[in-house]
Amino acid sequence: MPSASDPAPRILIIDSHGQPVRWAILARAARYYASGKVVTDLGENLFGMLGGVQDATGARSEFIASSIVMIRGRHRIPTSHAHVGLTKYRLFLRDRHICGYCGGQFAESELTVEHILPVSRGGRSLWTNVVTACRSCNTRKGNRTPEEARMPLLYVPYAVCRNEGFILSNRRILADQMVFLQASLPRHSRWAHA
Ligand SMILES: [Zn+2]
Repeated sequence: MPSASDPAPRILIIDSHGQPVRWAILARAARYYASGKVVTDLGENLFGMLGGVQDATGARSEFIASSIVMIRGRHRIPTSHAHVGLTKYRLFLRDRHICGYCGGQFAESELTVEHILPVSRGGRSLWTNVVTACRSCNTRKGNRTPEEARMPLLYVPYAVCRNEGFILSNRRILADQMVFLQASLPRHSRWAHA
């Protein structure tokens, strides 16, 4: 059951090509409806919200949005935005809080960003050169490559694509929104079959 501390559900806004545009709060979704931008509702969950009082009737308008809303037009995404930026928070989510060396699942406070090729040896902070590692594995590996340390990686690091980024950026994603976003994920994504 959602508790009072849960963030309010967000509406997944998609363009007419099915490309996710943004997570919107209800008030923003209401503006899409009011401005005639909505093509269709695709979500299975409905959310109601009271609008303004109408001058003519004095009645309060009610507005209902579904969990996935398609708006007019095509949202152009620069190719540089095909992948989302690397952050510690997103990295831990990509790897589902599982250490890439021992396979243990840890709380965020116990995890570190581990550079596969160490920074001191020219390793860069790129999605494909970092994995989630627990503190003890990170310390044990030290300034070595996985081969030198004889600590083979349990999974392959990959760059997080835009749609996966949408999944990682919403802590209260609804089942129908999840299914929609998962449908376009690459097979290597750990969220493709979550
Ligand atoms: Zn570990």
